[in-house]
Amino acid sequence: MKFGGSSVGGVEPLRNVVALTSNCASANDVVVVASAMNGVTNSLIQAATRASQRDEKHVTEVTEHLRTIHENVCEQLITKTDEFKKQTMVRLDLELRELKKALTGISYLGELTPRSRDYVLSFGEKLSTLILAGALHDSGVRVQRLTGEEAGIVTDASFGEATPLMHITQQKVKEKLCPLIENRKMPVVTGFIAATEDGVPTTLGRGGSDYTATIIGSALDADEVWIWTDVDGIMTADPRIEHTAQTIREISFMEAMEMSHFGAKAMHPRALEPAAKIGLPVRVKNAFNPNGPDTLILQDQRIKSVNIVKAVASVREASMVTVSGEGMHGAPGTAAKVLDALGKDDVNVLMISQSSSEANISLVIARSNLERAISALRELSLKESLFKEITSEADVSIVAAVGTGMRGTPGIAARLFRAVADEGVNVKMIAQGSSELNVSFVVREDDVLKSVHALHEEFRLGD
Ligand code: ADP
Ligand code: ASP
Ligand code: MG
Repeated sequence: MKFGGSSVGGVEPLRNVVALTSNCASANDVVVVASAMNGVTNSLIQAATRASQRDEKHVTEVTEHLRTIHENVCEQLITKTDEFKKQTMVRLDLELRELKKALTGISYLGELTPRSRDYVLSFGEKLSTLILAGALHDSGVRVQRLTGEEAGIVTDASFGEATPLMHITQQKVKEKLCPLIENRKMPVVTGFIAATEDGVPTTLGRGGSDYTATIIGSALDADEVWIWTDVDGIMTADPRIEHTAQTIREISFMEAMEMSHFGAKAMHPRALEPAAKIGLPVRVKNAFNPNGPDTLILQDQRIKSVNIVKAVASVREASMVTVSGEGMHGAPGTAAKVLDALGKDDVNVLMISQSSSEANISLVIARSNLERAISALRELSLKESLFKEITSEADVSIVAAVGTGMRGTPGIAARLFRAVADEGVNVKMIAQGSSELNVSFVVREDDVLKSVHALHEEFRLGD
């Protein structure tokens, strides 16, 4: 069972987590994975950046703020055993001192490496799981709190988005967790964080606690992985922007992965890989409405639904860059050179399209990468005079319709574009994967809500 940031983000939510896990643990063996408390990872990112700008005052402010929120929750939550409350407070204090030392070091050096950034980020989950383990213990559950590293998760050294070394991880997770489970001690594991083979802390990318849960679930050959979040499962659109969104009761791994790639935050994009590989069912449930509808993610062939389009997703805060020039026509390797230049500057390309005249290539990237992308392309253009012009549009979004039923069904794209055109939305770029699992297109940021509503209605997803 994995609990997200909002599920562990305060006294009441944590009481709820204790109730949910202890109820389930009476009839099942449960491993708990928890995220950092709501907003803590963002605060840590900001703290690391400000420290690297030598802002020492902020280092003190942030560590004191984190101390206050964690100690307050601990104080109110662990009430039965004073001794255990004290122990948890001491451990929180040790972690917070470590964090302050790390941030102070960064502020002295005025430098933040991806490696030290991951170390700073690892504190969010370390703090939240200390409290959760304390609260479970306080309510009479035998628990053992472990970091991702202690639970056996080993990754490569791609800091910020590390990849688990599955072979060794599977073996280690079994070695570390099985004896605890056999001893009827519930493991409470930090999500999101792991370590290299040499023990250097790494993180699995934003939202990576989902990934921790499926890595552990697959290593232990669990019956199911349950992702507890703050909405009723995976929905036909983000319920924050589409009020008529409904829970998708069953969805295939492929569809769910496609949705997460296109911005459905409900699931980390790579989290489903370990589960899909062995057909381990993943259930997404609402911790604040545990008896409400939920989503079961299964292998393709086990899905009964015949909906053509299952969900509409969107990626906000994107930018579009276009390089153009007659010289690109028939020049082999242009696209490769463009992607290579961007890749070298760490700019991830979300979408690419080339006109058949070959006179231009358009790319969609995260808005935060726009300046870096333009300077990489300018440099390439100076070196190779590949194209004449680089133009960009800073505020665009990607909208995607997802569903296996689209495969081989004619006329879907026509319906889709008619629906958005009727709303007066101008489509700037279109892509369809060869899997035909999704059709995605780019619109002005201001048009994204209109587009999501139009598609949601056209395919009657709110019914
Ligand atoms: P957690 O902290 O539990 O991991 P996240 O914030 O990462 O939660 O993901 C849950 C959020 O994802 C929801 O609050 C919701 O606003 C957003 N979301 C976006 N698209 C979808 C979707 N299609 N279905 C469900 N939730 C979605
Ligand atoms: N705390 C991490 C994040 O905010 C991981 C997670 O929540 O899954 O990205
Ligand atoms: Mg998440």
